[in-house]
Amino acid sequence: MMKIEEAMENSMSISESDFVIVDRLKSDPESDEYKNRLYDSIETAFWEGEGDCTIYDFSDKKSHSFNNRFELDGIEFEIPSKDFLSFNNPYGACKKCEGFGSVLGIDENLVIPDPSLSIYEGCVAPWKGEIMSDWKKHFIQKASKIEFPIHRPYSELTKAEKKLIWEGRKDILGINDFFKHLEDNNYKIQYRVLAARYRGKTRLP
Ligand SMILES: [Zn+2]
Repeated sequence: MMKIEEAMENSMSISESDFVIVDRLKSDPESDEYKNRLYDSIETAFWEGEGDCTIYDFSDKKSHSFNNRFELDGIEFEIPSKDFLSFNNPYGACKKCEGFGSVLGIDENLVIPDPSLSIYEGCVAPWKGEIMSDWKKHFIQKASKIEFPIHRPYSELTKAEKKLIWEGRKDILGINDFFKHLEDNNYKIQYRVLAARYRGKTRLP
């Protein structure tokens, strides 16, 4: 503990673990004088600490930190209000879909128009044609190595298997990678046309 003047004279550097002591008090919860002084000191601490205040308890040698922001675990939150809690209000509506519950995205029903077909039979509609069928070939080749049921109808696949078709994995490219590829090359008009064919209103996950 030292005076600020002393620290300045010795040109000490101040680190984040250093504190400025605003007040030292002996606890006396019954006394109004104590309470008033405590409130004042806490207010000063928040002001000088730009929203942070730490109270050091000499009885158990522990410090307790507080801040006057709407914050937890380092995340600052918006202070909720009536409007904030209503999806019908622009202030409260989901930022992604603006409260409509759906966004323009890749429509699963357009990509897989006939779920009774298997991957092998071509259930993924955009993976047809001379060039795009390379994606289907790639998937079948890679997936059969990990015993993926390439002959099973899409509708009978498990959640995890469907997920693999869409999301792929490190060494397997999926439908999402395919559309990412179209997007990355959207300077080509045929790619833009192809991608647009599968775009529709999709429910936000
Ligand atoms: Zn939403």
